[in-house]
Amino acid sequence: MNLQFYMPTRVIMGDHCIRANASVFASLGKKALIVTGARSARVNGSLDDVTAALTAEKLSYSVFDKVMSNPTIACVYEGAAFAKAEGADFIVAIGGGSPMDAAKGIALLACQDIPEEELFSGRYGKSVLPMAFVPTTAGTGSEVTQYSILTNDRAETKTSIAAPILFPTVAFLDARYTEGLSAATAINTAVDALSHSVEGTLSVKANPITNNLAAESIRAIAGCFGPLKKKKLSPDERERLLYASTLGGMVIAHTGTTAVHSMGYSLTYFRQIDHGRANGLLLAAFLKYVEQKEPALIASVLTPMGFSAVGQLEEVLASLLGEKESISRDEFERYSSIAITAKNIANCAVVPTREDLLHIYLTSFAE
Ligand code: NAP
Ligand code: FE
Repeated sequence: MNLQFYMPTRVIMGDHCIRANASVFASLGKKALIVTGARSARVNGSLDDVTAALTAEKLSYSVFDKVMSNPTIACVYEGAAFAKAEGADFIVAIGGGSPMDAAKGIALLACQDIPEEELFSGRYGKSVLPMAFVPTTAGTGSEVTQYSILTNDRAETKTSIAAPILFPTVAFLDARYTEGLSAATAINTAVDALSHSVEGTLSVKANPITNNLAAESIRAIAGCFGPLKKKKLSPDERERLLYASTLGGMVIAHTGTTAVHSMGYSLTYFRQIDHGRANGLLLAAFLKYVEQKEPALIASVLTPMGFSAVGQLEEVLASLLGEKESISRDEFERYSSIAITAKNIANCAVVPTREDLLHIYLTSFAE
């Protein structure tokens, strides 16, 4: 058996794990730049826990709280300039995928002068600020991936900076922070995590380790379908979703994502549909497409859900995601032309054509 598995991020999980492991911050540097969104970290207790831990370790910090959803390139350059001006020597990211992804770009640009045209080139030096990540949604797994996904206006889509130096040094998983998530964000982020583990299984880069992580992640998420539908998650279920989303991150760190993510980016870029929802709207039609060519692959993602047919997952997703947006064929023609050029298309075990993508879009949004 030939395989490789690389997961350099230290994962620390449990209620109150930040305050209990405050000394970890002291190993990262002397002054932190806390990168976060506008509001939620102040409400859910995560920012207080981080600042208390930094203070206990006599470390100073500044806060950059300007990260919006689907972060822009400008936001990342602004954050990096702020990090340099403040003399920060490590980063603490708090929030959903948006602040975490922006934080990776900031950690990179604070150490390397990379012009905007070169940002997605993959040609980077070795220096980056050490990073501690605190996910407050149970979705992206960004706390254990080497990807920073940014809104790319030039290409009219979302594009990732991908480099091994972008793996966070440490991730703190405390599911208490996810308690105040809106029902819609809890669902969309859980569906994103599911999509990562499903797409990872359908990737040409899958290996036995990622497949086992993916199956465990899919099982845990499917166990929460009922509570997600009822919009009522217990602390234990929220913790399982956070665990599952981190496993999903470990999966895509190796396998990449596939056509679902490439296609979902257009729904987000042009129609402002939340990232996880965008994937969820496309997932069942993509699975049906793959099933025609590789039925065994589909069984390996349905079995951990306790399902035997894609239709069962389709029903669950329909009830979780509710009414679909109305999008014209012309728009889907445009999205298909963009999605087919994405790097992740090459990850698909069954490689779709542009016409296949169009078909998946159209059937996903059919009345
Ligand atoms: P998000 O854009 O980070 O956050 C969505 C919303 O949820 C924001 O309004 C945020 O408010 C709020 N929020 C966050 N945590 C909360 C909490 N604990 N309680 C209440 N509200 C909370 O959403 P996301 O789905 O987690 O991340 C999506 C981004 O991640 C996309 O840009 C996507 O491309 C990227 N992504 C990255 C990877 C990767 O491997 N790097 C993988 C998948 C997706 P505030 O703004 O006030 O914080
Ligand atoms: Fe995603």
